Amino acid sequence: MTEITRHLFLRQCLALGLSSSLAAALSATGVFGASKPSKVVIVGAGAAGLTAGYLLRRAGVEVQIVEAAKQIGGRVKRLKGFADFPVDLGAEWIHDEPSVLGDIVDDPSVLMDVETIDYEPQQFQSWVDGRLKQQNWLRRVYAEYKFKTTTWYGFFERFIVPTVRDQIHLNSPVASIDYSGSQVVVKTKRGQVFKGDKVIVSVPVTMLQRDAIRFDPPMPKAQSRAIRGVVMGDGIKVFVEFSKRFYPDVLIFDRGTKVALGGDYKTVYDAAFGKGSRRHILGLFAVNAQAGPYVRLSDRDVGAKLIGELDQIYGGQASRYYVKHVVQNWSKEPYIRGSYSYDFDDAEFDSMAEILAPLQQRVFFAGEALGGRNQATVHGACQSAHQTVKRVLAS
Ligand SMILES: Cc1cc2nc3c(=O)[nH]c(=O)nc-3n(C[C@H](O)[C@H](O)[C@H](O)COP(=O)(O)OP(=O)(O)OC[C@H]3O[C@@H](n4cnc5c(N)ncnc54)[C@H](O)[C@@H]3O)c2cc1C
Repeated sequence: MTEITRHLFLRQCLALGLSSSLAAALSATGVFGASKPSKVVIVGAGAAGLTAGYLLRRAGVEVQIVEAAKQIGGRVKRLKGFADFPVDLGAEWIHDEPSVLGDIVDDPSVLMDVETIDYEPQQFQSWVDGRLKQQNWLRRVYAEYKFKTTTWYGFFERFIVPTVRDQIHLNSPVASIDYSGSQVVVKTKRGQVFKGDKVIVSVPVTMLQRDAIRFDPPMPKAQSRAIRGVVMGDGIKVFVEFSKRFYPDVLIFDRGTKVALGGDYKTVYDAAFGKGSRRHILGLFAVNAQAGPYVRLSDRDVGAKLIGELDQIYGGQASRYYVKHVVQNWSKEPYIRGSYSYDFDDAEFDSMAEILAPLQQRVFFAGEALGGRNQATVHGACQSAHQTVKRVLAS
């Protein structure tokens, strides 16, 4: 009997355009027949907040997405016009199979015709203790994916944002969340008030660590302690155009063993790799301690420092062929303040459940820090949104 009901329910959901897995989740978690929230306020319009809004809207829930910055995307940010391809100023790689894009959208009726490239650099070098070394063996162990003509921002713009566009409030930094009454009341620094049955907080963990949002009543001490235990260090990206290419596909500044996400990590790389570009665009990516020497400089000085370093490695060619550069200093972004949360010793995973615990089943949390094994990635942030939406609908 249960099976038949569930089966019918799933079929109806599909007919209404609800994805099979979300519908299954609603059914499995007992939402079917339970009263789902009619209004949810989402704090933050990054990958997690946008995805949560998209899923809730498709489940027939009214949402308001309240974003502090003047643009959506958070750490997903696009720069057009710098090169002959759009540049990802934040997240750039797809740190998993491209099928995760379909998992985020989670709608079998949508044609996922996004062109991705196999990111398999062939020329690797390392610069350690003043010595340049070939490290081409790395091509046998390293492979990822990237977008060919679009960006992470373009992906959200095309597949996620249209469902929630009218519900996004920009330039609205949330200052307090009061969940003491029958409705949750979200207030911004500008005095706007948003009310909902539930709230999903998807701001970077740094914002919670800095008490940028006041919770009333305050969150339990253990939860607050767990949040403060997450490590999210500095982060910066720089893109430089040169009139001639003199650098390899990837240059790493360590012993050549770490090429993907790492604790303290710095690399310069051919940002035009596989993009079909006619321009010579080099990227710098540095996080945590390796980003430290850059993030407190002005954008001009960041450029000068990087060019100086490249000149030392490549005999002055960086200055000779320099055209222009752009800096995205994530540590200076007032509503981000860093790169991504990072699991240095697995301790964060133990505290994940503590952080995720909803406040009185009304204030829920989502975001990359809560992405479990996929912490620190865009798809991890989105997976966290999927899980949190299921919990919200089931609560
Ligand atoms: C330099 C760098 C490189 C990266 N490279 C990759 C990569 O190649 N591949 C990959 O998968 N991931 C990468 N990442 C990680 C990825 O960008 C993040 O994991 C993901 O985008 C985080 O999404 P989120 O929604 O959890 O948080 P965010 O994107 O930070 O979104 C949170 C939003 O909350 C808003 N906010 C903050 N405070 C408030 C407030 N008080 N009120 C309202 N809104 C508020 C912020 O403005 C922001 O828009 C990179 C990150 C950085 C910084």
